[in-house]
Amino acid sequence: TRAAKALKDYIRTIPDFPKPGIQFRDVTTLFADPRGLRLAVDLMLHPYAGTRIDKVAGLEARGFVLGGAVAHQLGRGFVPIRKAGKLPGAVLSERYTLEYGEAVVEVHDDALQPGERVLLVDDLLATGGTAEAGVRLIERLGAEVASCVFVIDLPALGGRARLEAMGLDVVTLCE
Ligand code: 5GP
Repeated sequence: TRAAKALKDYIRTIPDFPKPGIQFRDVTTLFADPRGLRLAVDLMLHPYAGTRIDKVAGLEARGFVLGGAVAHQLGRGFVPIRKAGKLPGAVLSERYTLEYGEAVVEVHDDALQPGERVLLVDDLLATGGTAEAGVRLIERLGAEVASCVFVIDLPALGGRARLEAMGLDVVTLCE
């Protein structure tokens, strides 16, 4: 669509970051532009008109920028899902595998109430491992993932298929 194309014009590609052969999709240029940031947030919200969302959860760190703006616009609270060791209170943890090694994400154990419907937000969907770990945390708190929304999908890495196989609704704005 035209909107997706406009969005892509704000995203910069940095070759060989964080290591040789990786094409890093850099959203700092999208965030820094007032029209770009507004377009991204508006497009993320659009599919949820008329949908019940009780809380917005964002994945560290770029999911905090987008998720905070989405939560504010919906008039809902924001819940951070953070890398291990950053949250001060009692947490639940989920370990997941990366291309090389493992990572852990955490959420405060009182951040969500059973039955709450949560919108999970991040900038980019690659293998879906990070988002899946976030979903598991949300579900362990008894809450429900209403949908997962990302600015960028890298379809070759299979994240959408992986999340949809879990029965999740997935929205992405561009590839
Ligand atoms: P996944 O767990 O789906 O394989 O990787 C997605 C996570 O890694 C997201 O939290 C995302 O922010 C980050 N990520 C991986 N590759 C890129 C990239 O090229 N650009 C950006 N902005 N984030 C990336």
